[in-house]
Amino acid sequence: MNIVELAGVTKEYPGVVALRGVDLAIARGEMAAIAGPSGSGKSTLLHMIGTLDRPTAGSVTVAGHDVSGLRDRELSALRARHIGFVFQQFHLAAGVSALDNVADGLLYSGTGLRERRERARAALERVGLGERIGHRPHELSGGEQQRVAVARAVVGEPDLLLADEPTGNLDSAAGAGVLALLDDLNRAGTTVAIITHDAEVAARAPRRVRVRDGLIVADERAGASSR
Ligand code: ADP
Ligand code: MG
Repeated sequence: MNIVELAGVTKEYPGVVALRGVDLAIARGEMAAIAGPSGSGKSTLLHMIGTLDRPTAGSVTVAGHDVSGLRDRELSALRARHIGFVFQQFHLAAGVSALDNVADGLLYSGTGLRERRERARAALERVGLGERIGHRPHELSGGEQQRVAVARAVVGEPDLLLADEPTGNLDSAAGAGVLALLDDLNRAGTTVAIITHDAEVAARAPRRVRVRDGLIVADERAGASSR
């Protein structure tokens, strides 16, 4: 079953057509890289898949729900329940412990602070930061900060983890660590889509979707090519 389906998705910004009729389905359990050069429309595609923005035309279906029929509020709830996000810039709250940064990933889940913190602690242990829960972002390395961001993204056990250039601000060793962590999460059942302009990052994924000028120009799976 597909966690996300895009059909004929077009996205226009004033003066720019960022996506030009994209069809894409991501099946539960997949690990897909969405690759392409800068400006090709990758982040726009992530915004469509993640329902952070609405398409100009075409449809987006998440966990069986057609997003166009939902009000903003319902959309936020759908997103909170099904999708976790990781961005290049970590986006952690400064001066706030790793534990509370991750616990904030459950703010809209209706759970109390105590349970949020318990689950946050478990998520931080899962990403190898059980010894760093009291550290604030400036007391952590870039790789550790991105691990905190990954913990925050998965603490609510989303069906789909969307990562936009997750290694873009990391040195190669820290980047490799974050990619290995995403592999671990995928093996444990989370569907993962990694947006990247880095051919090496894309090459390690079993499925590679290539975007160019707002279109999907290739969609390959390990050992096979479907286009
Ligand atoms: P990528 O992530 O592959 O670098 P983007 O999806 O960010 O590409 O951008 C695709 C195109 O859409 C680019 O030409 C970019 O300038 C344009 N674009 C992206 N976001 C906006 C926006 N909010 N307003 C106007 N143009 C945008
Ligand atoms: Mg981008």
